[in-house]
Amino acid sequence: MISNLAKDLKIYNSISGKKESFIPIEKNNVGMYVCGPTVYSNAHLGNCRTFISFDLIFRYLTHLGFKVRYVRNLTDVGHLENEDDTGEDKISKKARLEKLEPMEVVQKYTIDFHQIMNKFNTIPPNIEPTASGHIIEQIESIKKIISSGYAYEKNGSVYFDISEFNKSKKYGKLSGRKIEEMMNQSRDLDGSSDKKNPQDFALWKKAEKNHIMNWDSPWGKGFPGWHLECTSMSKKYLGESFDIHGGGIDLKFPHHDCEIAQSEAIDGCNPAKYWMHTNMLTLNGKKMSKSVDNFILPFQIFDGQNKILSKKFDPNTVKFFIYQAHYRSILDLSDKALLASEKGFKKLISVFNLIETLKSNENKSDFNVDNWITNCYEKLNDDFNTPMLIAELFDCVKFLNGVNIGSKNLNSSDKNKISTTFKFMLFDILGFSQQLDEKTDHNSQKELIELLIKIRSNARNEKNFKLSDEIRNELLNLGIKLNDDGSSSSFEIMK
Ligand code: AMP
Ligand code: ZN
Repeated sequence: MISNLAKDLKIYNSISGKKESFIPIEKNNVGMYVCGPTVYSNAHLGNCRTFISFDLIFRYLTHLGFKVRYVRNLTDVGHLENEDDTGEDKISKKARLEKLEPMEVVQKYTIDFHQIMNKFNTIPPNIEPTASGHIIEQIESIKKIISSGYAYEKNGSVYFDISEFNKSKKYGKLSGRKIEEMMNQSRDLDGSSDKKNPQDFALWKKAEKNHIMNWDSPWGKGFPGWHLECTSMSKKYLGESFDIHGGGIDLKFPHHDCEIAQSEAIDGCNPAKYWMHTNMLTLNGKKMSKSVDNFILPFQIFDGQNKILSKKFDPNTVKFFIYQAHYRSILDLSDKALLASEKGFKKLISVFNLIETLKSNENKSDFNVDNWITNCYEKLNDDFNTPMLIAELFDCVKFLNGVNIGSKNLNSSDKNKISTTFKFMLFDILGFSQQLDEKTDHNSQKELIELLIKIRSNARNEKNFKLSDEIRNELLNLGIKLNDDGSSSSFEIMK
């Protein structure tokens, strides 16, 4: 059943530039397509920001009762180095440099991507289609675009004809770019291109002799253009029109404008009702990006092996840092920001220990819990405003601290409601992991044992053998054996 709260959900639609009420095309179902990674290298934290943001959206829509079909593709062919359809295929290039098969490159970085998404405790999409697995669908899409008159073939390649399209339709709906201005700004400098206009984009590219990834097509051996895979795969799994199409803001132009043009050429409609774009994660004030060597990988943050940060940070802290900004705001990564997030997250997550120790009674609470819960939902309903939600959560922590020092009163039924709401918001919606990072867990266990060994050694020095024996015996009961050599102690954990 769809929650009553769903009627208040507002989503910022990039195509109208406004927050709009969310009304799905089919009453109970939501189709969501998010442009996934090009699996030619490790996903950096910027990529993760986008996918973590859509994970929250997926979780919240599901919580509201919608049956969500979340499709996120893997680009494993067709993404060329340059946006003007020139340069090597990113996967092929990596395969050449690393002396691997292209599909080995794809496999390696797909596994890496999944591991990272798992570390961040994100829920896998329902379908994760690959471009290379949908060549037939893409060829069919091209045939339709040619027959609608918006594409032309030249020397074994097929291009989308933007000026023809613009005679009856409008290219650039998302970015707002005007085709006439674009045409004035760019020229085919050496005249070597097969394109009628530099703005035309490739639907199919002829494979040159050394191009390993190629398929047969009505236009000869080649491979599909990057923009086409999302059009063909979103249609296959979500239909001609679906609810949400997402990706990073850098994909608005040309990728998403091209997707809209392709769908309009094939089916006569914009494929998505709501276009959602996440803003960029920056490092040193510049977009985090592989191509300009301005990036950090999640694992380098988790193990502290990097030249940017003073210490290691766990996935929950990094996720908290991401959620402290709204998904449509730019967010800059820095040591200072992560240190602050670590402190903030620790304070927030310690709320469960705090709640356990609090005394409650049957008197009226000095806090309107129902109002607070409503406010939390309002923030989520306001275009998934996570920083405002976090502020609400901290408001309640402040109240609980007041209860702790005896200046505020807490009713026992409110105490339960607060505890349930925190669990639900932190773990189910924001998706923080309940398990400590394995290494942190292991480290803190070791630190605790070492602390006990130190206390025991002090006790022995003071000839308090009762205490020192008690510590040794209790540790032994827990399966931890101290190896005494008189002055110092090491320990072993017995299996
Ligand atoms: P790519 O593998 O480059 O195609 O990117 C995969 C996804 O990550 C796309 O949705 C991009 O928009 C997004 N993305 C790339 N760089 C960043 C960044 N610095 N911050 C946030 N999202 C990004
Ligand atoms: Zn895409």
